[in-house]
Amino acid sequence: MPFNIAGVLVPLHLIVNPRLIIPSIIVKDIRQLDFPELRKAGYRGAVFDKDNCLTVPHDDRLVPELQEAWRICRETFGEGNVLIVSNTAGSHQDAGGIGAEAVSYHLSAPVLRHPSLKPSYSCIASIRAYFASLPVPVRDEELIIVGDRLLTDVVLANRMSPPSEKSPIGDLSSSDEKVSEVTKPAGPLAVWTTGMWRRDATVLRWIEQGLLHGVQRWVIPEVPNAEQMRRFVRPLPPIEEPVKEEGMLKKLWSRFRR
Ligand SMILES: [Mg+2]
Repeated sequence: MPFNIAGVLVPLHLIVNPRLIIPSIIVKDIRQLDFPELRKAGYRGAVFDKDNCLTVPHDDRLVPELQEAWRICRETFGEGNVLIVSNTAGSHQDAGGIGAEAVSYHLSAPVLRHPSLKPSYSCIASIRAYFASLPVPVRDEELIIVGDRLLTDVVLANRMSPPSEKSPIGDLSSSDEKVSEVTKPAGPLAVWTTGMWRRDATVLRWIEQGLLHGVQRWVIPEVPNAEQMRRFVRPLPPIEEPVKEEGMLKKLWSRFRR
């Protein structure tokens, strides 16, 4: 993992603006996100972190459990509107963009080439330039930004929000979509995934969670719009337990043989 000066300086920014670390939605992984519902609410584009969000760290392939959710996500938002922004693949440390090519191939989605790491403002500028260049440009407030790290992914998303402005969800949608009375953050929706596909950066995660806990306890006790955000979250699919079934069959067989 490259040294991330932008990430190291975030705690200083949190002193001025502690809201930066608060996610709008917390899920275990992307299977819990209701992408069609997000689209209905006016979200038209998505930014995804790679390591421990879509793939095992340092692997280019999608985690098999996420295949269906990833397909639905790409179909819902459309070709080009789902962008992977990683601090490994596509960053300045990815020599020749080889990592970005491999990830883009395996995940069937573009990987942003960016000169500086998340959550820097330079990286934000690269994200904005990408979505502005699309045939139908996507605005900041039409984006969801999904990642497993508070000090990079969530802070990046919240840095793209103008301070404490609200806009009706219907304003973001095309005219044929129903105008809703609920409000949403004026910037991107910050989604924090808490499940890890492989343990990494344990101490940093512990610090991040401590900071979030501190902000929620002492500064901002309530997550803004928490009730409204629940509509975008689905329960996780049940875990398949083939071993147990086999055990039951064996048990039945042994009873039958008696
Ligand atoms: Mg990550």
